[in-house]
Amino acid sequence: MAKRKTKYVCQECGYESAKWMGKCPGCNNWNTLVEEVAATGGRGNHTFNVGGKPAGKPESITSIESQKEPRITTTMQEFNRVLGGGIVLGSLVLIGGDPGIGKSTLLLQISSQLAEKQLPVLYISGEESTRQTKLRAIG
Ligand SMILES: [Zn+2]
Repeated sequence: MAKRKTKYVCQECGYESAKWMGKCPGCNNWNTLVEEVAATGGRGNHTFNVGGKPAGKPESITSIESQKEPRITTTMQEFNRVLGGGIVLGSLVLIGGDPGIGKSTLLLQISSQLAEKQLPVLYISGEESTRQTKLRAIG
């Protein structure tokens, strides 16, 4: 977990300090410093910066363009269907299910199809050795 950066900001004059003080050196008022999570922007602007991307401005939902996302389809219609029509580029899909239900086999088949489409595939397994994965792939 990332360490939270906090600062103390005077609610009267905006003076900022790394540690709490009873008396503000900026305006000499008492008990005006309030702990705030360090964030981009000015006083009272609690904009959290997630993933290093600049925060977006509020938008009306009716003004947002709904363009069709480009998707990669597989020959497995059911798989395409549960993903809403195929794999969305840049998306992350979490496949869950009981042990032995066929998650690894399914994902190897999908990896194979993506590789056939000349798309880069990186198959990472924390459960099976490379040999087991190979056996499953050719089996
Ligand atoms: Zn002050």
